[in-house]
Amino acid sequence: MPTSLYTLFQSAFPDDRKRVALEAPDRAGLGKTVRASWSYIDLESIVARYASLMGDLRLKRGDRVAVQVEKSPEALFLYLACLRGGFVFLPMNTAYRTDEVDYLVGNAEPALMVCDPAREAEMVEIARGHGHMQVLTLDGLGRGTFAESAARVREAHPPVDCASKDLAAILYTSGTTGKPKGAMLSHGNLAANGLALRDAWAFSEADTLLHALPIFHAHGLFVACHTALLSGAKMIWLAKFDAAQVREHLPKATVFMGVPTFYTRLLDDPKFDKKLVSHMRLFTSGSAPLLAETFEEFKSRTGLAILERYGMTETGMNTSNPYIGERRAGTVGFPLPGVEARVVAGDDTICGPGEIGDLQVRGQNVFSGYWRMPEKTAEEFAEGCWFKTGDVALIDADGYVHLVGRAKDLIISGGFNVYPKEIEELIDDMPEVLESAIVGVAHRDFGEAGVAVIVLNKDEMLDEAILIARVKEKMANYKVPKRVFFVESLPRNTMGKVQKNLLRETYKDACR
Ligand code: AMP
Repeated sequence: MPTSLYTLFQSAFPDDRKRVALEAPDRAGLGKTVRASWSYIDLESIVARYASLMGDLRLKRGDRVAVQVEKSPEALFLYLACLRGGFVFLPMNTAYRTDEVDYLVGNAEPALMVCDPAREAEMVEIARGHGHMQVLTLDGLGRGTFAESAARVREAHPPVDCASKDLAAILYTSGTTGKPKGAMLSHGNLAANGLALRDAWAFSEADTLLHALPIFHAHGLFVACHTALLSGAKMIWLAKFDAAQVREHLPKATVFMGVPTFYTRLLDDPKFDKKLVSHMRLFTSGSAPLLAETFEEFKSRTGLAILERYGMTETGMNTSNPYIGERRAGTVGFPLPGVEARVVAGDDTICGPGEIGDLQVRGQNVFSGYWRMPEKTAEEFAEGCWFKTGDVALIDADGYVHLVGRAKDLIISGGFNVYPKEIEELIDDMPEVLESAIVGVAHRDFGEAGVAVIVLNKDEMLDEAILIARVKEKMANYKVPKRVFFVESLPRNTMGKVQKNLLRETYKDACR
């Protein structure tokens, strides 16, 4: 089997390389100079050219290439060129400001930064502070100094033969505390996970994936692109998620991958119905919890069950609801082939079915550690190569994994453990409530206590005392939120995760 991820992709490309690999419909009509469709031949030739350019720029194997650009097909080709050339791809969230980029550059020491033309001067300034980083540009339409230089180089760069343990990418995790950590992912990690997902979700050359996720994150870059590339499928490439655009292009697709907010936005649109999606083979969701309510509403509107899966930057995908078999709302399914999962109690004893504890995973998908942070890496692994995910979970008697919350979101109130999800589910079931988040804040008596932050359904009313009384009827006192705040919406990051760190900060003095 080829060991470089790029040569593995090549081995899966269709025999007829004239087939379309990628289509960017939002580029159609922008004039002859802006391309909107790429065959596998085009993809191979651009990727080879980009890899050649990086060789000409004197990048060596293992050098990091930092990339902070708008989503575009060319940005994907740049990633593939890094894989092909043996360089380490380091994508950065486009929302990162100067100080965040500066920290990442200082930590990862990239040899090359490819950035949006609008931020070139800022990146040159950052480069000056860190020695030898070269800076080139690429915009959302694939133009800029990187593309211009690539157009002038020869195409002949042969794919480098990487070993399975060689680094393919470093992704900085969206840690809510402390400095971001660079998760080191090897060609072998990514290949193992991509192949497991391709097979588990029955991808084939006949598929067309509608791609609306950002590609600076594992979900859009690895889960979505790898399953498509490892099956020689086609991708319809949207620069960003827009419910109307997704609706327009769904008729040509067979698979769609989203974060939960994509689904709630699609469901907000009355035109989103069974007729529109009856031909679809698969909808997947992940990166944040899919509310059971969203799962059920989607099912009743379309007749289709969203397949929820669970993973993280450090591990790729760990579990998935079955492609064939019962997809259960509120669960993230079973460990994928090649992945082991276990739930352990504080003292490292294995929990029985239904018992809550810390979720640990191991397998070829699991990263080798955090870039230049050996102590942090050691802390995150238990004996026997088990990675501590930081997620609190249970595995039920049927083997389905249920996520209960993040370990760091656990609230210890008066010495008792409070799992936010349990209370959030109770509150979310109230007819007036759209959604809720429980966060722990300092409490003068209990050390810590839960505060509920609530979004009500349109035109509904509820007050703090009534809500507290209702929770009290159903739950032990130590679990009852001590304060309740009503807000218009919960703060979310680009992957749809509720930013509990922001809520903790906003309400930190609420119970003092
Ligand atoms: P990231 O590294 O940004 O991909 O974040 C990984 C974290 O997202 C996991 O550790 C989980 O806490 C959360 N996550 C991913 N998928 C799901 C899911 N299906 N349901 C709930 N949380 C999820």
